[in-house]
Amino acid sequence: MSEEAVVLVTGVSGYLGSHVAKLLLEEGYKVRGTVRSLENEAKLEPLKNLVPDAKFPLELVAADLTKDEGWDKAVEGCSGIMHVASPFPDVTNKVVAEEELIGPAKDGSLRLLKAAAAHANTVKRVVLTSSFASVCGEPVPEPDKEYNEESWTDAESPTIDAYTKSKAIAEKAAWDFVKELPDDQKFELAVINPTLILGPALTEGHKNATSVSFMVQIVNKVYPGVPRVQMPICDVRDVAKAHLKALTMPEAVNNRHIICTDSVWVKDISMAVAKEFKPQGYSIATGQFPYFACWLLGLFNKGMKNTILPRIGKTIKIDNKRMVEVLGVEPTAIDCTINDMVYSLVDLGIARKAKKYKQAGSRAEVPAVNGEVEEDKKEEKESEDKPEEEGEKKELEPEDKEKKEGKEIKEDKPEQKEDNKDKEEAAKEEKKEETESEK
Ligand code: NAP
Repeated sequence: MSEEAVVLVTGVSGYLGSHVAKLLLEEGYKVRGTVRSLENEAKLEPLKNLVPDAKFPLELVAADLTKDEGWDKAVEGCSGIMHVASPFPDVTNKVVAEEELIGPAKDGSLRLLKAAAAHANTVKRVVLTSSFASVCGEPVPEPDKEYNEESWTDAESPTIDAYTKSKAIAEKAAWDFVKELPDDQKFELAVINPTLILGPALTEGHKNATSVSFMVQIVNKVYPGVPRVQMPICDVRDVAKAHLKALTMPEAVNNRHIICTDSVWVKDISMAVAKEFKPQGYSIATGQFPYFACWLLGLFNKGMKNTILPRIGKTIKIDNKRMVEVLGVEPTAIDCTINDMVYSLVDLGIARKAKKYKQAGSRAEVPAVNGEVEEDKKEEKESEDKPEEEGEKKELEPEDKEKKEGKEIKEDKPEQKEDNKDKEEAAKEEKKEETESEK
């Protein structure tokens, strides 16, 4: 695909969509992105600065998956399409009606695919962002099974949630649609099936994305512990790379591609956050809730009951051969995914900034409001911070030792003290602000 051809990215405002657009712009492509509304300047401005020195500026057009208008114009003149947009609510926190999701996911995708077929003279390939949810949607995976691209979620299963159902139905509908196309309307289809995506957010507008909310809960210590649940995860930058490879490599056509770094326990994610951020003044909950506590919570919270509770203690095995061997995408190290994500969330003001936060690792290359990435300043800051880091490593040793010995990590007293100290300081500051505003 020639780099000067236009590539459409649907859902360019989203957490993943903005990474896909950023990568395409960095590679010199002309990118057109769809958003639901062109009115929200605060949301759109940072997108225009994703790659300040891009060869071509990002073009934005309006199109809503629930409406017919806009799609034909969006697709006009495009040679490739990355169909990323789909409603993605956090199903562990709220229960969403099926019709709110299946309509935009399935009928919305068909609206886009019909427009692509009408422009098959220019559109050569569509890359559809599906999900691992349409590979294995059951909360309890089959024991001893290694899931691969042959595996399909049963969309009729009564035990899957509405989001999972919407992704399985939408992907199946896309394959069926392409199979039935007459010769003069044919284009190629490749599908990407990411597991839970983590990694840096690019704009403040991603604060409500499901992946972002998941990490913010850990960083802001919304809960005093984590459930004993395993999650297959991947890095958002790897998912973006996989989209680009799927757009350009002949081997990707007519295939699904699971994107997965590994399956990890939520506790290991919070431990990784604690290792990097505890020395910077963050109190991170690393203890696991007992089953009974989750069950109790499930009485009041349907997300907990339907999505978390059945997964407790279950492991899942996933084959990522197509990602690595066919697309050639080497998974990013988990620590790097997690640390870069947390740094980006704090830098963007999405997660709380502790007083000792050093911004040491703003490795996510988060564009500043003016689009500049202050690399030099960050390097200076990193070298200034080094001697202190040495001292802080010592704080971690007892916890690391416990981890090595396989002991359960519980909230220890010094950490509670630190947390109380933080709270006291925050209360003092609040009081000061109140007095000042009274004045
Ligand atoms: P996100 O940040 O919520 O992005 C969703 C995008 O879809 C947003 O740009 C949103 O636009 C757009 N969208 C939603 N409803 C729409 C509608 N009716 N019409 C037009 N656009 C609509 O979520 P994400 O995590 O980036 O997810 C992107 C894709 O990856 C989705 O297809 C999701 O299913 C898939 N996926 C995500 C994960 C993950 O862990 N994040 C894992 C597997 C697959 P607005 O900005 O206007 O809301």
